[in-house]
Amino acid sequence: MEEPEQDVPLDEGAPNLPDVFVRNIYCNHCKREHPHGDARQPFNDPHNNDRTWRLLSCSKCNALTFFLEEVEPGDLSQEYTYPARKPWEVKQLPNLPASVDQLYREIVTSVDTECYLLAAGGMRAMIEAVCSDRGVTEGRNPYYVPGRPGSQERNSSLASKIEGLGERGEISVRKVMMLHEHRILGNDALHELKFEDDVATKHALKVLESMLEEIYELSNSANLLAERRSLRSPDQSIGAQ
Ligand SMILES: [Zn+2]
Repeated sequence: MEEPEQDVPLDEGAPNLPDVFVRNIYCNHCKREHPHGDARQPFNDPHNNDRTWRLLSCSKCNALTFFLEEVEPGDLSQEYTYPARKPWEVKQLPNLPASVDQLYREIVTSVDTECYLLAAGGMRAMIEAVCSDRGVTEGRNPYYVPGRPGSQERNSSLASKIEGLGERGEISVRKVMMLHEHRILGNDALHELKFEDDVATKHALKVLESMLEEIYELSNSANLLAERRSLRSPDQSIGAQ
């Protein structure tokens, strides 16, 4: 006689995983998505019956996560986890000017807390801040139409300043194109309140990080190398005749 099919455990090795409330969420410790279940009795917010707080533990490593479930009108529910999932790894960029560094950290916080509208607006502000720091006040207008009344070949719009960064050799042509893409992302976010998804926003943040590295860190390393070379042997320094 054939044996009856056994229930497959939700996740083998899950320590004391309760079978009442389980959510598949990303574990910041395991760096993977795993089922998380109640580690303690849940409790309701005494000031708001629609909110339930839970302490969940990862089925693989027991790492604890605060979990808030909030029922909204229409039986919609929102779920929040603390600390935020997959926190963005902040790059070590020691040569950033203070204002750019502050913007960078606030953008990362916005991404970590899923505030993608603020993150997109912050990215636009960061491109402005970098142009200002590098003294780029104008550039070629990518929208210039010869002969059209009012169309200027060069101006001081943000689009032109991004071109200016390229003209000055601060960033590559490829990066100029990428920045245009994300300048538009910031425009849409601010003017049309259009929310970007996490994939688009995180891609934009990676492009910005690589721009910051190119402008502030790589050029700094190149300058240090040139300085050391000229100290060792002044005749071999670049540009020596
Ligand atoms: Zn885990």
